[in-house]
Amino acid sequence: MSDSVKARADHYEQLVNRLDAKRLKRNEPLAPYTTFKIGGPADLFYNATSADDLAGAVTAARDLGMEYFVLGLGANILVGDKGFRGLVIRNTSSHLKFLDDGKLWVESGAVMARLIPQAVERGLSGLEHYVGIPSTVGGAVWQNLHFLSPAPARERTMFIAEVFESADLLTHDGELRTVDREYMQFGYDTSTLHKQRDIALAVTFQLEHGDTAVMHRILQENLSWRGGKHPWLEYHPSAGSIFKKIEGVGAGRLIDQVGLKGFRHGDAQISHIHANIMVNLGKATAKDVRELITIAQNKVHERFGQHLEPEIGFVGEF
Ligand SMILES: Cc1cc2nc3c(=O)[nH]c(=O)nc-3n(C[C@H](O)[C@H](O)[C@H](O)COP(=O)(O)OP(=O)(O)OC[C@H]3O[C@@H](n4cnc5c(N)ncnc54)[C@H](O)[C@@H]3O)c2cc1C
Repeated sequence: MSDSVKARADHYEQLVNRLDAKRLKRNEPLAPYTTFKIGGPADLFYNATSADDLAGAVTAARDLGMEYFVLGLGANILVGDKGFRGLVIRNTSSHLKFLDDGKLWVESGAVMARLIPQAVERGLSGLEHYVGIPSTVGGAVWQNLHFLSPAPARERTMFIAEVFESADLLTHDGELRTVDREYMQFGYDTSTLHKQRDIALAVTFQLEHGDTAVMHRILQENLSWRGGKHPWLEYHPSAGSIFKKIEGVGAGRLIDQVGLKGFRHGDAQISHIHANIMVNLGKATAKDVRELITIAQNKVHERFGQHLEPEIGFVGEF
C-alpha cells in the first residue's frame, strides 16, 4: 500500500470514531454537489447536518492535520478533475428560529431559496433581493452576497452585510465566538472569512417588518430580470460570474468586445447571453474551463491591457 493510500485509510478510521459513520463517505464524486457539475472525487466526504456537527467535523479534521473544505451549494467554485485530497464537509445544517423584533437566527447550511419565502410569509423584508441566487447562508456571508437591483426606484447594489447582525463562528484557533459586523470586514465579494479560516456556524439577520406585496413585487422583478440576462442553471450549469468586476468597465463587456461571446472550448463555453459566465454544455472538465479562462484573459490583455482576475475559487487538484 502506498503511503498516501495508507494515510487516507488511517484518516477514515480516525474520522469514523469521531463523526457519524453513516454520513461519512469515501471517494465521493464532487461534480453533483456543485452548480458547474464539474469536479473529481473527494477522498473523504461528510454531510454535516447541524451547526454542532459542522464544528465537530472541522475540529476533527484540524486535530488530525487533514486538509478540509467546507462546501455550501458549490455555486462559486470550480473543483479540479482530480478531486480533493482530504475531507470535504458538505454543510446542510439548516435549523432556524425567528426571534422577536425581526431577528432571524439560522444555521449556515440553510439555502437562501428556502429561507426567503419563510421570511416573506412573515412580512419580514431584507432577504428577498437575493432571490434566484444559489447560495447557502455560509456562502453568502463568506463573499458578502450582492445583487444590483434592476428596478429604477431602487437601482443600487444591495449587500447581505446590510441585514447581517452577528455570526456564531468556530474561529481559526478553535474558539466558539459570536462576532459582529465589524469583525466580519465585509467588502465587495469579500469578508474576513477569506483571510482567516474561521467557519460560520450560524448567522443572525436583522430583518425589517414590511409590506408583503412590495416584497412579492421585488421577487417577481428580480427573477424576471435574472431569467432574461443569465443562462438558466437547470440547462446550463455554471458558477455565475467567472471574473471579478472591473470598476467602470465590466469584465463581460471586455470579453464580448474581443469577440468571445459564444466561444466554445471542449464542452465549456462563454455564454451567448452573458460574456462573464461560462457554461458547461454537458461534459466540460475543469481543464476545459481553466483553458477557457486563460484564452479570455490573454485576448483581453492583448487588446485592452486589462487583467481579468477570476472571482471563483479553485478547489482541489487540477
Ligand atoms: C447562476 C449563478 C448566479 C449567481 N449570481 C450571483 C449574484 O448575483 N451575486 C453574487 O454575489 N453571487 C452570485 N453567484 C455566486 C454564488 O451564488 C455566491 O458566491 C454564493 O454565495 C455561493 O454560496 P455557496 O453556498 O454555493 O458557497 P460555495 O460555493 O459552496 O463556497 C464558496 C466559499 O465559501 C466558503 N464557505 C461556504 N460556507 C462556509 C461557512 N459556513 N463558513 C466559512 N466558509 C464557508 C467555502 O469554503 C468556499 O470557499 C451566482 C452563482 C451562480 C451559479
